[in-house]
Amino acid sequence: MAPTQPRVEPLSGRWSHAFLACGAVVVLATSLSQGALRGWLLVGSAVAALGATAVVAQRRHDLLGPVSILRVALLLLVPGYVIWYPLGLNAELALVTISITDVLFIGGYLLYVAALARLIRRRGGSDRVVQVLDSLIISIGLAVLAWVFVISPVVRDPGFSGAAKATAVSYPAIDVLLLGAVIRLLVQGRLTSVGDRLLTGWVCVQLTADLVYTVTSLRDTFSFDGPSPVLYTGSFVLLGGAVLHPSLALDPPAAPEPSLSAWRRLMLVGAASLIAPIVLIGLGLTGKVEDVATVALMSGVLFALALARIGILMVDVEQHRRIEDQLQASVRAERQRFTENRELLVSLRERQALSDRLFRIQRKISSRAPLQDVLDSITAGASDLLRDEVTGLRLIDAERPDILRLVSSVGVPAGTAPELSQLVVGEGVGGRAVSEDRLCIQEDYAAWEGGLDPFRARRLTAAMGAPVHVEGRPIGSLVVGTFRPSRKYSPAEQDALIALAEHVSLALNDARTVQAMHEALDQALHQAMHDALTGLPNRACFYERTEQALRSARRDDASTAVLLFDLDRFKEINDTLGHRYGDLVLQDIGPRISAQLRPQDTLARLGGDEFCVLLPHMTASAAGLVARQIVAALEDPFEIDGMLLAVEASCGIVVAPEQGDTADLLLQRADVAMYLSKRSHGDPVVYSDEVDVNTPDRLALLGELRAAIGRDELCLHVQPQRDLVTAEVVGIEALVRWNHPRLGFLPPDRFIPIAEDTGLIRPLTAWVLSSALGHLRSWIDDPAVPLSNDAAIAVNVSTRSLLDDDFADEVTAVLQRAGVPPERLILEVTETAIMADPERAHRLLTELAGTGVRIAIDDFGTGYSSLASLRFLPVHQLKIDKSFVTRMHEAPNDATIVRSIIDLGHTLGLTTVAEGVETEAAMDQLQRLGCDVAQGYFVARPMPTASMAEWVRHHRLEAAGSPYG
Ligand code: C2E
Ligand code: CA
Ligand code: CA
Repeated sequence: MAPTQPRVEPLSGRWSHAFLACGAVVVLATSLSQGALRGWLLVGSAVAALGATAVVAQRRHDLLGPVSILRVALLLLVPGYVIWYPLGLNAELALVTISITDVLFIGGYLLYVAALARLIRRRGGSDRVVQVLDSLIISIGLAVLAWVFVISPVVRDPGFSGAAKATAVSYPAIDVLLLGAVIRLLVQGRLTSVGDRLLTGWVCVQLTADLVYTVTSLRDTFSFDGPSPVLYTGSFVLLGGAVLHPSLALDPPAAPEPSLSAWRRLMLVGAASLIAPIVLIGLGLTGKVEDVATVALMSGVLFALALARIGILMVDVEQHRRIEDQLQASVRAERQRFTENRELLVSLRERQALSDRLFRIQRKISSRAPLQDVLDSITAGASDLLRDEVTGLRLIDAERPDILRLVSSVGVPAGTAPELSQLVVGEGVGGRAVSEDRLCIQEDYAAWEGGLDPFRARRLTAAMGAPVHVEGRPIGSLVVGTFRPSRKYSPAEQDALIALAEHVSLALNDARTVQAMHEALDQALHQAMHDALTGLPNRACFYERTEQALRSARRDDASTAVLLFDLDRFKEINDTLGHRYGDLVLQDIGPRISAQLRPQDTLARLGGDEFCVLLPHMTASAAGLVARQIVAALEDPFEIDGMLLAVEASCGIVVAPEQGDTADLLLQRADVAMYLSKRSHGDPVVYSDEVDVNTPDRLALLGELRAAIGRDELCLHVQPQRDLVTAEVVGIEALVRWNHPRLGFLPPDRFIPIAEDTGLIRPLTAWVLSSALGHLRSWIDDPAVPLSNDAAIAVNVSTRSLLDDDFADEVTAVLQRAGVPPERLILEVTETAIMADPERAHRLLTELAGTGVRIAIDDFGTGYSSLASLRFLPVHQLKIDKSFVTRMHEAPNDATIVRSIIDLGHTLGLTTVAEGVETEAAMDQLQRLGCDVAQGYFVARPMPTASMAEWVRHHRLEAAGSPYG
């Protein structure tokens, strides 16, 4: 177990008070009693004091502490007093003989001194040397008195023995030591507590008692009934009371208390050091020469001590001065730092204010606040931050680049605004900032010749201007000016003005960007709504205006007409003369048509050679009139580069609300009417339900089909074609299906005719083409699909597509997109389609064949076409119509037709394909007849594209064991 230091709880002050109270009674009793009782009372008080020291020493576990030493001292003194007084009364002990009492007393007194010395040591102090010196000076002063009045008479008295002299001298000497110790305590200057005062009181009473005793015994007037025993009793009471009092500081104090005032101490020391010289003078006056030498020696010692004291004082003073200098230096440095910090703080605050301000301005700029607002907030910011009375922002006039105009200002003196509103570049600080393109500062403004008169007259003292830039060029300036005397612009302020001017630049640049954006937006909007070639409204614009016209017609209960024109001979111009001529014709068509229209009518180009006219508030008959006028106007040849070019136009007419109440429906029906007009090569056709074979049911489907193409409701089925010699799959026919959300899978017969009657066949064919070619590409790329190297995909082309001048270009584009070589595409065209417009069909097929695509004539045998005309068609394949093939084995007629078609094909060098091969017998027969390719349920039924790969693989294996392989 580690020894633990017990915490010392100080005794309560009540113990000391009780002790003192009892002691006072004892003192009183002592003074009243006589003889032995008096002696025992004195001894009792000593024992009580011993008890007190024992208790305190016990509690403090402090063996060598001041209280423990006091206890030992009392242990010696108690028997000393017992022997001296109560017993000595009877023994009649002589005072002057060395007795046991003297040994005990002197031992006890020395221990007193030791105890006090210990206390002094423990308490310590900052100026030990000075304290020792001071107490030495006082003690020696007192010692002089003791010598002269007490010791010297005894020493010189021949009636005393040597031993008696020694004892008699010892007491005053020790007393002087005791006194010195108390003075030392006093000098340490901590006699503020009750305990310390009691302790000092004890020593004083003790010394008084000793003095009285010594003096009375020297004069032979000592008596035990005199004051001495009472004084001794009192001294013990005070000692006990002091020791018991908790305020007696036995340990070093935590914080030094204020010391005895330096003045009092100095006076004390001064008085003490004067004792020896005064006594010396006294001795001189009274003629007592025997002590002069001793006293003079002591004077000398005192003088030396005083000198030492002064020396230390001087060193102290010097030290103090040095410390004070250092202190002052550090105070100065501190003050300097303080001002620097304050300046730093101020500049930081200014910077913060600037960046706050700039941030607010930036927010305004980015939130696209009105430009004037932004500029005003910048001038207000400059005025706030720089605290100058006048702030102005000038920008170069757009019309006059030599003039700066005031666009925003703060504090411009009343009445000067007109004079200051404009400024020549180069004039004034603002003008100079622009012409020199740098920050300009003008101090002593009023005396400056370049200054502006209104400001000079009002004694402006200084001004500073920073340039504003747009696209790197100075186009204005931000200026601040003041009437304050001796104004200097700090670097921070200069930076602030430059930063604010830069924000003006930012705001202006941003505003320009916004304006440019708006212009670009307007342009984009115009482009989005207009045709680039002719500048006429485009399809989107036409739809919008039509819807608008229909709305207002509904309100007015009026009818609206739409005319759709398609040029008939335009393709020829393009082909023979080049696109440049085609374009020029298209550009000339607009004005021709417009000349026939009212201002409220709209002419639009829908694409290619299709033009559309919207006629608000127009009846069907009036629309027919307008249409004929336009057709007539277009019949006049166009003169381009001196060449006369003729175009004709077909025209379809619809009238709302009778024939439709949406732009979509109206255009679609106008398309039908236009198609009829084209077919008849005649007059404009007004749409009517009789004209359109569409039943309401079909009409519904028509509307849905338009959406179906966009929504991917269409899908492809494919049917393979087998080579009758090699059994390889040499072709795949793409057959479209409509996965109708309500009606389920619709066969092509249900919707192809509808699509053909309207413009819808165009996007439908485009979809089938691109989808079919996409699939072919993926099969070619997939090594798991064993297709022959020249296997082609066959796509059905409707009659309508043969009238479309752009069709060949479209096919080429789709082929390129899919990355499929043209010879792997077969376009199936029906015989009837060719017969509808043989000339045109011939032209288109030639063009198509020119791209490398193969052409098949579908449903051959049903059109009764002149077989001879086939010779001139660029055709590769004949597809024998399935009606002949399916009836081949039962109708000899049909068999004959099939055979002659096969022969004809071979004569012309064409491949023959039989479709509708439903049985093995048909297959055999076709093979015998030399037909090249078979397609039909016997080979495979049309299947989803996803099943194709698997079927081809399976077919390979089967074919290995088949008679057709
Ligand atoms: P098509 O060009 O004559 O196509 C062949 C039609 O005969 C297909 O009918 C096919 O399913 C059917 N067929 C195939 N093998 C046999 C067989 O052994 N016996 C019988 N009785 N029929 C067989 P589907 O798919 O209903 O097509 C009908 C017509 O729709 C096609 O006749 C074609 O003219 C048209 N068509 C199909 N897809 C398209 C297309 O994508 N575009 C255009 N414009 N027309 C298409
Ligand atoms: Ca076909
Ligand atoms: Ca067919």
